[in-house]
Amino acid sequence: MEPAPSTIRDDFPILEQTVGDAPLVYLDNGATTQTPRQVYEIFEEFYTEYNANVHRGMHELSHRASVAYEQAHDRLAEFVGASGGRKEMVFTKNSTESINLVAYGLGMSELGPGDEIVTTEMEHHAMMVTWQQVAKRTGAEVKHVRVTDEGRLDLDHAAELIGDDTAIVAVTHVSNVLGTVNPVGELADMAHDHDAYILVDGAQSVPTRPVDVEALDVDFLAFSGHKMAGPTGIGGLYGKRHLLEEMDPFLFGGEMIQHVTLTDASWNELPWKFEAGTPPICEGIALAAAADYLDDIGMDAIRRHENELAQYALERLEARESVETYGPPSGEERTGLVSFNVDGIHGHDMSSLLDDRGIAVRAGNHCTQPLHDWLRIPGSVRASFYVYNTEAEVDRLLEAVDAAADELPRHLASDRYHDRIL
Ligand code: PMP
Repeated sequence: MEPAPSTIRDDFPILEQTVGDAPLVYLDNGATTQTPRQVYEIFEEFYTEYNANVHRGMHELSHRASVAYEQAHDRLAEFVGASGGRKEMVFTKNSTESINLVAYGLGMSELGPGDEIVTTEMEHHAMMVTWQQVAKRTGAEVKHVRVTDEGRLDLDHAAELIGDDTAIVAVTHVSNVLGTVNPVGELADMAHDHDAYILVDGAQSVPTRPVDVEALDVDFLAFSGHKMAGPTGIGGLYGKRHLLEEMDPFLFGGEMIQHVTLTDASWNELPWKFEAGTPPICEGIALAAAADYLDDIGMDAIRRHENELAQYALERLEARESVETYGPPSGEERTGLVSFNVDGIHGHDMSSLLDDRGIAVRAGNHCTQPLHDWLRIPGSVRASFYVYNTEAEVDRLLEAVDAAADELPRHLASDRYHDRIL
């Protein structure tokens, strides 16, 4: 049986607080999820029992830290369906660094004039800006798969763009604004038919649905710990072993070397070749605990819960004339987020009004400025859900949205608004 959010919520004491006079409703999970007891308790355990640097010392504490840190890599590899264990799982700071690792390790060294990078209009800046820079520095060209009016990728256009000149397809699995779940397995086939690589941005998919890199046949997958009930400062990059073996290191220094002379150096084995310097040790161990936590609930149950809350919210927002929603319409599977605007109310004012009622959402362009340009809006309000959110919390959001127009004049004149905005 699937655990109900009510029992899950016991694991997240942070949710049991009031903001102003209202109980907190945390709907900013697309930015960062909350961390359960089972994960943050790892910090106390680590720092009271075996805090030490990894790989370097022969002493007991270093040995315990090293074993736990190395095993964490195996656990995350397993979590995303990689059979190669730690040899296919590099720990990074976050999705952004994972994407940059591929951009530097493969893009900068292998691409040149005549090569094409196929990405999409719905990418987060982490993908968008990184591949722009690779193109500028190497002479390669970036092409963008169009987004349809209903917020899906135009797959016919993808098939037109992905061709023999394509070197890499860089695509998000789930849009952090539209909630769309992209068919990355199909895109991987298109890429491989033309001997291109595929890098998938899993920042929004790995936390919210089962992801199996081998079933999807993706070459690289980037994700962030802080969006999947883990701590900040840790993320992962899955890469097919033979590709990681061939790639150049991204950062240089201690830990990533095997042998150093005054003039040259050789590289450590995978994945340490990509983890220069002292890594985020406790964060990595805690991320493995987050994977255990999510697997105990069940990634399929999480996917269903996300979709149910999204449908519940979306149907009700769509029914309101003053509200415009973005992304595929209700009825179609999506991840647990809805982005919207309300006539006459700027997104920042809306999020500030919601905050008056204890509701945390995010407003702005969500690091997808080109997508917002395409939608012809400066920004949007995004409510994003996770395992602990409930329909009752969505009802609180809807009530607050309905009350917003009436409350706006008083709110704009309030000290609270001025303290925040000015
Ligand atoms: N890609 C997507 C789709 C995201 O939603 C985010 C986070 N908003 C990122 C990449 C970047 O994640 P991070 O800031 O953890 O590197």
